[in-house]
Formats: sequence, C-alpha cells, structure tokens
Amino acid sequence: MMNLLTLRETSSDQIHYLLDTALSFVEIINRPVKKVPNLRGRVMVTLFYENSTRTRTSFEVAAKIMSAEAINVAIAQSSVSKGESLKDTLRTIQALKADCIVIRHSSSGTAQFAADHLQIPVINAGDGRHEHPTQGLLDMLTIQKHKGDLRGLKVAVVGDVAHSRVARSNIWGLTKMGASVTLVGPSTLMPHDVSELPVTLSTSLKQGLEGADVVNVLRLQTERQERGLLPSLREYSKLYGINSRTLRYAKPDALVLHPGPMNRGVEITADVADGLNGIHSAIEEQVSHGIAVRMAALYMLMSVPSSSVAQQMGDRI
Ligand code: ASP
Repeated sequence: MMNLLTLRETSSDQIHYLLDTALSFVEIINRPVKKVPNLRGRVMVTLFYENSTRTRTSFEVAAKIMSAEAINVAIAQSSVSKGESLKDTLRTIQALKADCIVIRHSSSGTAQFAADHLQIPVINAGDGRHEHPTQGLLDMLTIQKHKGDLRGLKVAVVGDVAHSRVARSNIWGLTKMGASVTLVGPSTLMPHDVSELPVTLSTSLKQGLEGADVVNVLRLQTERQERGLLPSLREYSKLYGINSRTLRYAKPDALVLHPGPMNRGVEITADVADGLNGIHSAIEEQVSHGIAVRMAALYMLMSVPSSSVAQQMGDRI
C-alpha cells in the first residue's frame, strides 16, 4: 500500500493487517514508557486545513511513540495565508524531506489530489464529507475488542450521515469485514447517493436500532449544513437523540460509539456518553485506540525494510 486515502479502496486483507497490527500496538500505548524504535529517523508532517483535537494529536503521539519526528504545519502561520497553492505547499513539504504527509481538508478529494502530486505516502485525516479512514479503523478496532469478530454484527450509524466522512469510512470498512450497517436519521440528512451504498436505511430511530450490536452516534455537522435541513435542534434531539430511553431500542449490551467532538444534549445525552448506569460507552476508548491505529498506518507506510537500514549502516562503515 502506497497511501491510506479511503477504506473504500482498502482491501479486506489490508484492513485485517492494519487492525491486527494496531491490536499489537495497544499493548505499547499502555506501557509506562511508551517508546519503540520502529520509525527512528523518519519524518511525519501533519497538514490540517480544518480544526482537530483528537486526530492531529493522536497522529503526533503515534509518531513519537514510534520514534519518528512529528512536525505540524500551522496553516494560519504558513505561506498558505500568502496565497500559496495547495500543490505548492505539498511539494514544499516533500522537498523538506517529509517521509509521509497526513492531511485534513474541508474539500472532498483533497487527499487523492495530494497523493497524485507527491512521491511520498499520504494519509487522509478527513477530506470534506468523503472519508476518514483512520477513524473507520479505530471504530472497528474498538468494536472488535468488545464484540470479537465483526462478522454478522449489526451497526447502526445514527444522525447526520450526509455530511459525515466518518459514516462513509464506517460503511466501507465494516461491510468489507462482514458487518451490516443501518443508517438512521431524517431523510434530509442522508447522502444523495445512499442507494449506491451497501446499507439499510431507516428514518425511524426505533426500527433502525432494533437488534443493533453497536450504535455509532454522529455529530450534527452544523459547519457543513445548508439551512433548512432541520426544523430545530430540539426536534432533532427528540426524534433522533440517543438517550438512556432510546438506547433500549438496540440490544441490551449495545456498544455506544461517537467519533467526537460531541454535542452533548443534542445527538447524545451526557449519561449515555459517559457510560453511566450500566451503559456500554466506548467513546474515550476510541480515542486511545486512535493512537494504535495511527501507529499501524504510519508503520505500514513509513517503515524502512531492515535490509536497507543494514545496507546504509554497512555503507557508512
Ligand atoms: N472528528 C470527526 C471528523 O473530523 C467527526 C466530527 O467532526 O464530527 O470527521
């Protein structure tokens, strides 16, 4: 694999490999001293044109645990504000000897654009409403840890699917691994191409959650929404909000996920988010698993075969 741009284009074998590798890295992130030498001497650059807390930080933590250098380009203070094009910025970072670029952008297709213009690996950290592959992988890793095999599980993805790159990566990743996905939400928040996706659709929360092993709650992406898609946030919460009552529509041991950041009181109530009263919330665990998944992605794309390292050492001696 040269890049990690989408889960749609990632094979089930590659997903298996990434999840197995990430699982073996979970042990490392739980050590008191979190450091392994695998990516020593390699440089990862993060280029985020959209805000982020979890994704950017976890890529940095992942790189540092693997002993790679992690450099963040602060877009607001970069030459982007002087009008530099995306292509020039990308090629400049490559010329600065980055070994991998992790990019987030508000336009769908930006990660592919970057990959088309670079010789170094590109990881998509979220492009518009298109995909967010490492989020899809960390969701799968979290589900796997709680439920075992993904095959045969029913995952309900609830809310603003139309604007969610997380939903798309979940759909492609989970169905490739043998789970079924039901999208639940108002029809105004369903994507236009929904009939081409390998999913079941429900506009009723009760029906959509029936028999669900996992409830993945999406944030209402108000920054991407046009006006008029929702009558009001209150009405949305009433019809589609996940609270301790509506969660009972799903299986009693249903696992609750949310990619964050959460709008507490809108798409999810605080007690569900915090896993109170016997609710199985894995939201914080997802964040930690994000580190392991990103370590696996960086390892897959940036590690140098030990034979070339030996060769280089030999040359120097
Ligand atoms: N953090 C996720 C993303 O960047 C989910 C969200 O923002 O709602 O797509």
